Amino acid sequence: MNILIIDDTKGDHELAMDYLRDGGSEYQFYHAYSAVEGLELYRKHVIDCVLLDYHMPDKNGLEVLKQLTEKDNKLVPVIMMTGDGNEFVAVTAMKLGSQDYIPKKVLTAKALKRAVERAIERTKMIRRMETYREQLEQSNHDLEQFSHIVAHDLKSPLRAVTQHLTLINNKCADLLDDKSKRSLEFAVEGASRMRTLIDALFEYARLGFSEPQMENVNLESILEQTQKDLSAVIDERKAVITHDALPEVKGDAILLAQLLQNLIGNAIKFCKEAPHIHIKATQDGNGWKIGVRDNGIGIPKSQHEQIFGIFRRLHVENDYPGIGLGLAICDRIVKQHGGSIEVESEPGKGSKFIFSLHVAETILKQEKMRAYG
Ligand code: ADP
Repeated sequence: MNILIIDDTKGDHELAMDYLRDGGSEYQFYHAYSAVEGLELYRKHVIDCVLLDYHMPDKNGLEVLKQLTEKDNKLVPVIMMTGDGNEFVAVTAMKLGSQDYIPKKVLTAKALKRAVERAIERTKMIRRMETYREQLEQSNHDLEQFSHIVAHDLKSPLRAVTQHLTLINNKCADLLDDKSKRSLEFAVEGASRMRTLIDALFEYARLGFSEPQMENVNLESILEQTQKDLSAVIDERKAVITHDALPEVKGDAILLAQLLQNLIGNAIKFCKEAPHIHIKATQDGNGWKIGVRDNGIGIPKSQHEQIFGIFRRLHVENDYPGIGLGLAICDRIVKQHGGSIEVESEPGKGSKFIFSLHVAETILKQEKMRAYG
């Protein structure tokens, strides 16, 4: 473990070394007697912990601390030391990212060792987390590349299959009997469905790679837009969509629109009579619960969890078209927003999908300001 001591008093360097060596731990020490020298050593070597004196001839310790933490994104813990127990320095040092603060007049071997061990533990943990984050970014990147390649490689032969089947259909229609023609149609339909599945699966995978663009969004405007996007099916099915006042929430506008579109689309699709959908928001601690209720066919309790899985469907394509990815996408979007989604439903009694979202930040701030007067 490499420890950098930045202190203009030689005796204090020796004292710190004595204190830390007492106990048998292996430390490598670097010595700087001015701020400039300290920053230079810090730049050149891998340092695990800095013991920083507040009173330096060229710069005060807080300025050095600021440069150290800014440079390394608070990766290296700094223990600030002062001659006296100045509270202002202590508070400012902590705010600037100092890991610990020890007034020299109460410095003991035990206190220093404990502070350094704690600081080094923290560095190790932060570095481990940093490595995990980098690995995760890398594997996300690899996975994204992989799914691009898979989507492309699966679609090219599929395109060839469709083209050749269409060719046979066009050229040999007269030679084929009805049964063969029907088989050919099935094959073309199958290929087209597979293409839809690959696209949808890629879309689902893509959701996992991209970070949501969080901002304050008005759910009412999102609902309005969703209704416009679904206007053809709303008109065709004579669906009535009503809502209570909807809040401003923290979220990604595009993803939330997709979430509402999937839920409302399903509510219309899985309904035998004229669909009536009602959207309602209720405050729940620091967030909102949004309910989308319909008068559709309902879902048996035993399927309430399954339907959020990939390609889970309760019906055959002929009764209700679809591929079984809509709710899996909803689940992923809500989780990306730090919330959860569930359903309350019984066959024949309609369904209510409920998801949670965080309150918009501006509103949180206003509420905090009101609470603190
Ligand atoms: P898809 O709509 O393509 O079938 P989803 O993932 O959106 O796929 O839904 C999965 C299954 O959940 C549906 O096939 C259906 O059985 C059931 N489901 C979803 N929404 C509703 C609803 N509002 N009412 C009744 N059943 C629903």
